[in-house]
Amino acid sequence: MGEHGTAESDSGEHGTAESDSGEHGPGRHAHGRPHGSTRPAGLLRGDEGFEEAVTDGVFNVVAAATGEPLPLPDAIVFPQTEADVVEIVRAARATGQRIAVRSGGHSWVASTVRGDGVLVDLEAFDGVELDAPALRATVGAGVRGGDLSPQLVAAGVAFPVGHCGRPAVGGFLLGGGLGVNWGHWKPACFSIRSLRVVTADGEAVTASPVENDDLFWLARGSGPGFPGVVTAFELELQPLPRAIRVSTWSFPLTDLAAVTAWITDASPLLPTNVELSLVTSGPQRPGGLGADDPHPLVVGVAATVFAADDDEARRALAPLGDGPATGVEPLDHAAFLDVRLDQLHVPVDATYPEGARYLADTFWFSGDLVETTALLPDLMAKAPSGRSYVLAGLPANGAGADLLTPGEAAYGMHDTTCLIVYTIWDDPADDARNRAWLDEVAAALEPTATGNFISEADIRHRPERVPGSFRAEDWERIQQLRRRFDPDGVFHSYPGE
Ligand SMILES: Cc1cc2nc3c(=O)[nH]c(=O)nc-3n(C[C@H](O)[C@H](O)[C@H](O)COP(=O)(O)OP(=O)(O)OC[C@H]3O[C@@H](n4cnc5c(N)ncnc54)[C@H](O)[C@@H]3O)c2cc1C
Repeated sequence: MGEHGTAESDSGEHGTAESDSGEHGPGRHAHGRPHGSTRPAGLLRGDEGFEEAVTDGVFNVVAAATGEPLPLPDAIVFPQTEADVVEIVRAARATGQRIAVRSGGHSWVASTVRGDGVLVDLEAFDGVELDAPALRATVGAGVRGGDLSPQLVAAGVAFPVGHCGRPAVGGFLLGGGLGVNWGHWKPACFSIRSLRVVTADGEAVTASPVENDDLFWLARGSGPGFPGVVTAFELELQPLPRAIRVSTWSFPLTDLAAVTAWITDASPLLPTNVELSLVTSGPQRPGGLGADDPHPLVVGVAATVFAADDDEARRALAPLGDGPATGVEPLDHAAFLDVRLDQLHVPVDATYPEGARYLADTFWFSGDLVETTALLPDLMAKAPSGRSYVLAGLPANGAGADLLTPGEAAYGMHDTTCLIVYTIWDDPADDARNRAWLDEVAAALEPTATGNFISEADIRHRPERVPGSFRAEDWERIQQLRRRFDPDGVFHSYPGE
């Protein structure tokens, strides 16, 4: 990566760690939106519209489902340029106010809302600049995956955007970024070439493999403990796969063992550009029949291939054959659907309705899929909400543990299978029941889990998930670097700390 320089050095206008405004050169839209915003520069607690400005930008208002209201900050600010961010950080530092940073507000635990100090909202940093021939992009931290992907498709390029369209790249990339085709393109943070960061000293710097490399290491995966404000990322792109094809199956959950045995046998034969996922869900799933559903609990399998053409796509999916062993009939099967990169998020978004209440937790496993999922039928049967579901991802089709070079970046906790539990309900009166179910699921899965995932773990309620999301030696380094880059605690630390 070193040979490619940084977001700024290619323009010849930046390239060093000195403070600058970021308002010039090819990255200017990605670095902010100098004109045209209707937002005030900021609001203080007590100002009209303050509470809405804080909470409207938060996807999951339930946060930790503690029954407590969200702890509001003292102020919210809406910088328009990198220079504004520099000024904000210097002012907060001078007055001893702590800073929280929001890009898209899609932290499951509302880690942006921390109770005191200043919330810096980067919604204006929504620019995208593509250099398709060079397979590069510069994107503002506030760009949403669902807004980025149509621009990529139009330019004939691709990126491991998130599976859901609404989170912004800011938090997604800082947390590692388990995006589309992640077993082949790797977690998205490994496609960051460089980034612009306003540090706790109030300096705007570039971080890359050749400049501020420790900050670059930290930015690739440390998640909501990153000690700085990232305004823009320079990304490495991929040529657009011309044949993205999806096959799906759905079975009664009582067939789970046969389904996981089928996947376990087929997955070693699948190339890494086939993304496999398995979902156990209840009667209120999208397309489910609710209380009248004759099969209230189901397991779905989706295989998505990112290929150059149909021939390659068919060959890649062939090991899955016609499904599990004879005698196990799918309730539903769709074969070889033609889906565009910028449409992949649409059915995923449908599983996360706006305004619902959520808890999420994540566990990595090294065992085989049959073993890893064996407890799910019992646990699903007890779920108080028919919308809750458990997603199993198998990066690189079982070879996930060997996908990454240990120590390459803060993101390094990776294994064979990732189980993500989503508890989804509407009525605040059901908070405690849903919390209790998630706790029961966690207690059942924890004994055999090898780790967690910082972006989708229950970190506000369970602070031990933070170190659990990193290899032990990487967690040591994260803590050292956090102390080095933010010795005075200008930025809020991990929720729960
Ligand atoms: C519906 C939904 C679907 C999801 N799907 C996926 C998925 O497919 N893959 C995946 O990997 N994750 C997924 N996630 C998790 C998501 O990636 C993380 O919660 C991520 O932090 C969201 O990014 P954001 O910018 O919207 O978050 P925000 O809530 O804005 O930020 C979260 C935290 O990140 C830090 N942060 C954010 N932006 C900056 C910045 N510019 N500079 C410094 N620090 C910053 C802050 O500490 C902040 O508290 C999903 C989350 C939701 C709610």
